[in-house]
Amino acid sequence: MLKIDLHVHTLLGGDSAIRPEDVVGRARLVGLDAVCITEHHAYDLSAPFVQIAAQENFPIFRGLEYRAEEGHLLIYGVPAGRGDLLPGLPMQTVVDWVNRRGGAAVPAHPYQDGMVSRALGDRILGLKGIAAIETLNGSVRSDKNERAQWAARQMGLPGIGGSDAHGIQALGNAYTCFEDLFHTDSQLARALRDGRYAVQGSSADHRSQPLGISEEAASGTQLP
Ligand SMILES: [Zn+2]
Ligand SMILES: [Zn+2]
Repeated sequence: MLKIDLHVHTLLGGDSAIRPEDVVGRARLVGLDAVCITEHHAYDLSAPFVQIAAQENFPIFRGLEYRAEEGHLLIYGVPAGRGDLLPGLPMQTVVDWVNRRGGAAVPAHPYQDGMVSRALGDRILGLKGIAAIETLNGSVRSDKNERAQWAARQMGLPGIGGSDAHGIQALGNAYTCFEDLFHTDSQLARALRDGRYAVQGSSADHRSQPLGISEEAASGTQLP
C-alpha cells in the first residue's frame, strides 16, 4: 500500500504558500507515504525536490498541472515544459501527446468553475485516452467531486485523489492509495493506467479544520 497525495503546489510554482522544505515533515505528520508535486505548466519547476527527497529519505514524485483550453490536466510520467506544450491547447491534443510519450493524463477538478476559465464539465465524457479522473480534489466542494465520480463511472475509469494544496494545512486532505509499490515517475504513470488504487480523504466542505487556502483560491482565481 502506498498513500500518495497526487496534487500538490509549492512556492516553486508561484501560486502556493507551501515552502518546499516543509513538505516532507507535513506529509509524514499526516501519514502519507509519498507526495507528487504538480506545479503549473512546467515539470522543471519542481527540480529542487530531487535533493529534498534524497536528504529526507522520503519519496517525492513529480508531475505537472497543465492549463488546457477547457480546463486543467494533471500530467504524470512525462517531464513536459513550456517549450513542449504552449498553454491553452485543446485537452485532447495534450492527452494524445502525453500518451505517445508513455505518460498518464488525468483531468483535474473537471467540474470546478474558475474565475478565468469554465470547467471542463461534461466535455470530459468525449475525451479519449485519459488514464483516470481526479474524483477527489481536497480543495473543491463535494458536489463538484461527486459529479467527477459520476463521470468516472460513466467512462469506466478509475478515480484519483489529491489535495490540490496551496497551503501546508491542506496537504494530504485527499490522496490515492495504491496497491503496488513503485519508485519512479514513469512507474507512477504506469500504475495510474493500471487502475489498482482507491481514493481517500475529504472535499473542502466536509472538513472541520481550516483549509489553509481561501475559498477564492480554491475556486480558481489563481489557477487552482
Ligand atoms: Zn487546477
Ligand atoms: Zn492544482
